[in-house]
Amino acid sequence: MEFSKNHLSFYMKYALIVFNTLRKPKFREFLDWVLRRERIRENRVKDVQIRMFPLRKENGKGLAGKCNSKGKIFLYPRRLEFFRDKMQKLGREKVNLYIKSRARAALIHELLHLKYASDEDKVRELTRKYFNIFTKHQPTQNPDSHKIAKMLFTQR
Ligand SMILES: [Zn+2]
Repeated sequence: MEFSKNHLSFYMKYALIVFNTLRKPKFREFLDWVLRRERIRENRVKDVQIRMFPLRKENGKGLAGKCNSKGKIFLYPRRLEFFRDKMQKLGREKVNLYIKSRARAALIHELLHLKYASDEDKVRELTRKYFNIFTKHQPTQNPDSHKIAKMLFTQR
């Protein structure tokens, strides 16, 4: 595996965006609300780790996140290669929005797994539902958010 300087700076920036996005008080409050609503006890979440480099599953697909039975959640970036043509087509703003949205959706998804375990369909359905609720309640509606959500939930 080779990581060039380019890779490194890309993934460092990526991780910083994710870190700043997920620690925003508005989003934290929202997650607390989701946990209450789903009756997931907050102490079930032991740790959320933002990993700097992507993880690929055996089938070659990238993984947005995973959690273990001890309540540890790991979040992974999308590969740089995915963004190469996106940067041209969408521009930096939308790519940033994509990164933020993907991170929020991934964390919601993994929190739900703490309750629904391996019921992937249920988790996906609820992730989409909660993600949309959060987006709708943002004080300023980003005109691209619909497009980005579509990208997120239809490309797997
Ligand atoms: Zn899942």
